[in-house]
Amino acid sequence: MPDIIQLLPDNIANQIAAGEVIQRPASAVKELLENAVDAEATEIQLIVSDAGKSLIQVIDNGKGMSETDARMAFERHATSKIRAIEDLFRIKTMGFRGEALASIAAVAQVEVKTKKQEDELGTYIEIENSTVIKQEPCAYIGGTSISMKNLFFNVPARRNFLKSNAAEMRHIVDEFIRVAMAFPELFFSLTANGQQVFHLEAGSLKQRVVQILGTSYNAKMVNVKEETDYLNIYGFVGKPETAKKTRGDQYLFVNNRFIKSAYLNHAINSAFDGMIAKDSFPSYVLFIDVDPSQVDINVHPTKQEIKFEDEKIIYAFVQAAVKHALAQFSVAPSLDFTLNAEIQNLDAVSKPFTEESKETVSGSNLYKTFTQKNQAHFIEKDNRSELKDWKSFFETEKTEDRREELVETTFSYEKNILNANSYLLNSFLQLHNTYIIAATQNGFLLVHQQLAHERIQYEKYSRLAHQLHAGSQKKLFPVTLETTASDAVLLNEMLGDLQTIGYTIEPFGNNSFVVQGTPADIAQGNEKHSLELLLEQYKHFSSDVKFSRREKLVRCMARQQAIKAGQALTGEEMKHLIEELFKCTTPNITPTGNPTFLEFKEDYLDRMFGR
Ligand code: ADP
Ligand code: MG
Repeated sequence: MPDIIQLLPDNIANQIAAGEVIQRPASAVKELLENAVDAEATEIQLIVSDAGKSLIQVIDNGKGMSETDARMAFERHATSKIRAIEDLFRIKTMGFRGEALASIAAVAQVEVKTKKQEDELGTYIEIENSTVIKQEPCAYIGGTSISMKNLFFNVPARRNFLKSNAAEMRHIVDEFIRVAMAFPELFFSLTANGQQVFHLEAGSLKQRVVQILGTSYNAKMVNVKEETDYLNIYGFVGKPETAKKTRGDQYLFVNNRFIKSAYLNHAINSAFDGMIAKDSFPSYVLFIDVDPSQVDINVHPTKQEIKFEDEKIIYAFVQAAVKHALAQFSVAPSLDFTLNAEIQNLDAVSKPFTEESKETVSGSNLYKTFTQKNQAHFIEKDNRSELKDWKSFFETEKTEDRREELVETTFSYEKNILNANSYLLNSFLQLHNTYIIAATQNGFLLVHQQLAHERIQYEKYSRLAHQLHAGSQKKLFPVTLETTASDAVLLNEMLGDLQTIGYTIEPFGNNSFVVQGTPADIAQGNEKHSLELLLEQYKHFSSDVKFSRREKLVRCMARQQAIKAGQALTGEEMKHLIEELFKCTTPNITPTGNPTFLEFKEDYLDRMFGR
């Protein structure tokens, strides 16, 4: 038997390794933008074609590379950012692994032009399949331009895995925004297929946030700023009115790195307790700066997770800082951002807590508030156990996995109730503008009006979506809708599906759209709001489940169009709602699997009373 183990050739090893770093065009965008930031550029341009599939180019005016460095940069584990293992604990740059350029060179055709500001001539290099195919001196202004063409040209299997251009573009815009948000002092632009999508002048963080999230945020942000020896927190939280029904504009950065942290997100949400509805999400753009030795960034390069030395302290700080900011907002509304820019920028206004911030960590009130309540990090789990005792009274069984679409079709439901007319006595009572008690021949139903209506709407829009033409109500006066660049990308992607449920929308250039028609029951004058809400919901639709785009849309539409809890209903409206509910194929649960009503039968009631 001959020996069978062989070393992989470099280019194959590189391709495999590249799989971890470059998953899609947006990953390359992130790496190239971060390299430009690390190179101390003040102007960074991103140019993409074909959602990055045919071209991603980043041009910066940073420090550039020498001829040798330019060549070295594409070797695996080649970095100028760390030299020894101890350096890992004082990382101030975005990159440090020295893998990005090597990975990019393994899976795309790369062209580099670079020149150190002080050198006379620059260097031009072409690389393909990890091999330099051309290198020559060139004239260049200074800084670096890296183009990567035809991503995955040599790994067709991975190229085939890429999503639609609209989807890949959305990822690119997300990454672009995350970097641009973190460095407001730098100029950024994004040009896609020859059209400029973003042009972000250098400015203050507040200006950057408004440039990206939209001017409507201008008057709706509260300044957060707490400085301690251990960490600083600064940025903005949206006033309670900007809370969204879905995870909205939430940006959290640690040492300027965008991160996702359910834990810290909980800290921020909890600071809003009592100020926003339980099921809504606050908007925020928050930056936490800590000593790099307190965080472990040595996690996977593409993961946005982070490990803190002491998570609980960070949790308490973040929560207290946001609470503090909100308190300031509610007691001193004149300090909000409706003031003009000069006044806002005065230290006295933007830094009302200087005295406190000078105190050391352990002396500050801030510190005391959280050390005394050191359960602050405790996350209450969704406790539905009290419902369990009632289970025997339920006709409907709560499904184990509420999200399973399949459940609905396999759900066995007593058909007798479908004959609603004879089963229901014509007697309805609304409780707390949320529940309807409907008397039946042998007991009563307790119906949740919003959930019941969501079911009705869901089946209605599902039917529409599967017909060829939904009834669209043509607008006498078409409404124009202006969106952010990233919403425009998304909306463009959704136009066809929106058409199936009754929206006629046409792109109008420059991130705006004309709404020519809406589903029949959208109220006049409300078109814009319902579309914005729909987009918002759609964007943040739980990604745990793979629904088709259309199914997602139908579900969002149903949720949005449902009568809300809190709305008073007349007897007729209640009757109609319940009749419509029982015309549904699956009346007893919402699309997500919550019960829409509970049935209480006489014999259960009797038993409860010991009769
Ligand atoms: P890392 O950023 O982790 O060091 P990369 O593979 O992204 O690794 O880059 C390798 C090296 O190439 C960097 O350490 C840096 O010295 C150099 N480099 C990359 N991009 C640029 C750029 N835009 N300008 C100047 N130098 C760059
Ligand atoms: Mg890098």
